Amino acid sequence: MSRIVMKNPIVEMDGDEMTRVIWKWIKEELLDPFVELKTEYYDLGLPHRDETGDQVTIDAAEATKRLGVAVKCATITPNVQRMSEYKLHQMWKSPNGTIRGMLDGTVFRAPVMIDCIHPNVKTWEKPITIARHAYGDIYKNTEIRTTEGGTCELVFTGKSGAVTRKEIQTLEGPGIFQGVHNKEKSIESYARSVFSYALDVKQDVWFSTKDTISKIYDGCFKEIMQRVYDEEYREKFEAAGLTYFYTLIDDAVARVIRSKGGFIWALKNYDGDVMSDMVSTAFGSLAMMTSVLVSPDGVYEYEAAHGTVTRHYYRYLKGETTSTNPIATIFAWTGALRKRGELDGQKELCDFAERLEKTCLSVLEAGYLTKDLVPLAQEELGKKGIEIHQMDTMSYLKKVREEMEK
Ligand code: NAP
Ligand code: MG
Repeated sequence: MSRIVMKNPIVEMDGDEMTRVIWKWIKEELLDPFVELKTEYYDLGLPHRDETGDQVTIDAAEATKRLGVAVKCATITPNVQRMSEYKLHQMWKSPNGTIRGMLDGTVFRAPVMIDCIHPNVKTWEKPITIARHAYGDIYKNTEIRTTEGGTCELVFTGKSGAVTRKEIQTLEGPGIFQGVHNKEKSIESYARSVFSYALDVKQDVWFSTKDTISKIYDGCFKEIMQRVYDEEYREKFEAAGLTYFYTLIDDAVARVIRSKGGFIWALKNYDGDVMSDMVSTAFGSLAMMTSVLVSPDGVYEYEAAHGTVTRHYYRYLKGETTSTNPIATIFAWTGALRKRGELDGQKELCDFAERLEKTCLSVLEAGYLTKDLVPLAQEELGKKGIEIHQMDTMSYLKKVREEMEK
């Protein structure tokens, strides 16, 4: 069988623990046999990040800007425990945070759906993609707790020297205060990432905030989104038959639950944090959530939404076989290869990505499931009289390969 020869490379960022093991297997079983992979390889595994003083993460982000498409394996974000486990020189920052900062990007999370797993919300027929604005608000806040009464003020000193001062509240007794901020530039970049991605995947955009209460702060988000839409995207949306729709967050929550899905729900930082956990849980499994980072100028980095699956890795190190679900990681690869194919006008690469995704899902539908999916799919497969085979990761990959080779 002749392999597809890629025209241009993608950036490949290797990672840690169980996902690093699966990464290699996916390449060996599902990619190398069919595609002559062209990648620029960066090892973002924690030992190599430590050796390079995290320079490798910066290099990988630069390469992503240059090549336009990347695929990333899950990586460890070090904490105190990891410092001693890996004898680290420093508690390096989250690679995802570094890359997101350098690309000025927005993360879109979407579930992979299969017929035998129904979302907890019965009306949902299509995936709901969450687009979280990942800068500022309470994630960069300043807080005060007082032990006595008094007055708290908000004071802004402009570069010009002009001072704006507003009283937050005067309290009789002890209380709490919080200061948050955001940048117009960050909101504009977010708006561009959201609308570009929507055009790419041909989905409507819903955006919601609490602008009835937060008239200036949330009002600014609403205004900037609308302005960027009107000035730069309205025509393209209309031509593509897509809509941009703003509504109050309370209303959005109610509509989302009643909806069929199939749209992008854009949210502020906190709302996106909370709602993405709710939506992904309602869709079934973290192992079926994909994630893509999109920059305002259309650079794409694909990955799984889950982490390095540490608990499985420790079992794997003891010599046990694990039933870790590789779907989200496979879909990160197919996402990147499809995007590369689109950019290079290489249809056969897009077709391959499509075929691999379909095969992965049809193998699941046929009852060959990793352990995490068994309880979710049991009932539906039972109704259809399909026998369930619980697969370890490698047997599942081999089964998909067998189907691909047919
Ligand atoms: P995790 O790796 O997502 O795993 C949490 C649990 O979810 C697992 O123990 C497993 O449950 C289940 N799970 C997740 N993915 C699965 C899969 N593909 N197949 C089957 N089960 C799956 O989260 P974590 O344990 O909190 O974090 C581990 C490491 O990942 C941390 O060092 C963290 O910094 C890192 N992390 C990285 C990223 C990223 O790079 N994007 C994101 C999140 C976390 P059971 O054990 O019950 O089977
Ligand atoms: Mg969260």
